[in-house]
Amino acid sequence: MTTEYQDLSIPERVLLGPGPSNIPPSVSNAMSQNMLGHLDPVFLTIMEEVQEMLRSVFMTENRFTIPISGTGSAGMESALVNTIEKGDHVLICVNGVFGTRMCDIVERCGGILKRIDAEWGKPIDTDFVRQTLEDFPARIVAIVHAETSTGVLQPLEEISQIVHERGALFIVDAVTSLAGTELKIDDWDVDVCYSGTQKCLSCPPGLAPVTFSQRAIEKLRERKGSVQSWYLDMTMLEKYWGPERVYHHTAPISMIYALRESLRLVLEEGLQARWERHRKYHNELVSGLEKLGLSMLVEEKYRTPMLNSVIIPETADDVSVRQQLLKEYNIEVGSGLGPLKGKIWRIGLMGHSCTRENVEVVLHALKNLL
Ligand SMILES: *Cc1c(COP(=O)(O)O)cnc(C)c1O
Repeated sequence: MTTEYQDLSIPERVLLGPGPSNIPPSVSNAMSQNMLGHLDPVFLTIMEEVQEMLRSVFMTENRFTIPISGTGSAGMESALVNTIEKGDHVLICVNGVFGTRMCDIVERCGGILKRIDAEWGKPIDTDFVRQTLEDFPARIVAIVHAETSTGVLQPLEEISQIVHERGALFIVDAVTSLAGTELKIDDWDVDVCYSGTQKCLSCPPGLAPVTFSQRAIEKLRERKGSVQSWYLDMTMLEKYWGPERVYHHTAPISMIYALRESLRLVLEEGLQARWERHRKYHNELVSGLEKLGLSMLVEEKYRTPMLNSVIIPETADDVSVRQQLLKEYNIEVGSGLGPLKGKIWRIGLMGHSCTRENVEVVLHALKNLL
């Protein structure tokens, strides 16, 4: 067995898949700054700044806004395990991989699950949500804002209203949408929202920003039993992120530096400008793809700008095109998942990866390969 390993050397890819996206140099630099103790006063200030900046990016006043240690799925799990008690009725809207994942978690928490489905590539029908809630006494309704497995952007405002008329909590998956398209937690009255760092925030994977409304905190306070996950229990995490600073687990210090820098960049650019940038290059990509004779999976009105699902033409081979993109052009794009496997490519334009240059590079490569 060899004990000699070469120094680590990572190729420079153009990351145009479903995440991670490329990270700006200042985010890498932030990660390599000096280590601090997790209760060091300098680190505590960074934690406060991260919370403040997250509130701005989520567009919320929610005091309980923190990055969970873990990827987007840990954010999903924290949203569900903290709100669901055994026997609670939970409605999950499913039109892709991530809605399906939520159903799995609900069952593991002992929730009484009802799911409503839409075809993958289509949004959830608002009237169907309304009708379902007429006989199903949901305490919680959860939905994905930008379904990364299909490229659908789900309108949320009307569903939020329906959910609250029924007195239920409204949970939204914004892993891909946060900082890439309009998302207004307070204006849209979202009770729990979670995201991930590696999509439009352009930070490495490893943290899941979450925000809990007062209504969600009340549901948490009224629980009869403790939260099934020790690690994701918000009643304990709030004592570390709140003024008490009680040790729960060691914060991933370097990741929090990186998140601070990526949030700083988001706010420096401005949310509105960032949303517009994503929309603009999405439009340029789509028109370029159409010029190559390709068509999109999702109807124009429901396309999410940061994830573009393009139908693979019959003359092309899914795997070999993606392999050539990677080998010859250093470009990563995503494959289809579940029923869309072999049917679509998923071209991400997220955060730092969302540039005119990248649109041109991927269009040029596809033109040559097809
Ligand atoms: C990526 C993603 C997740 C899961 O995040 P991980 O970081 O892979 O755990 C959840 N929901 C959506 C919509 C996503 O795009």
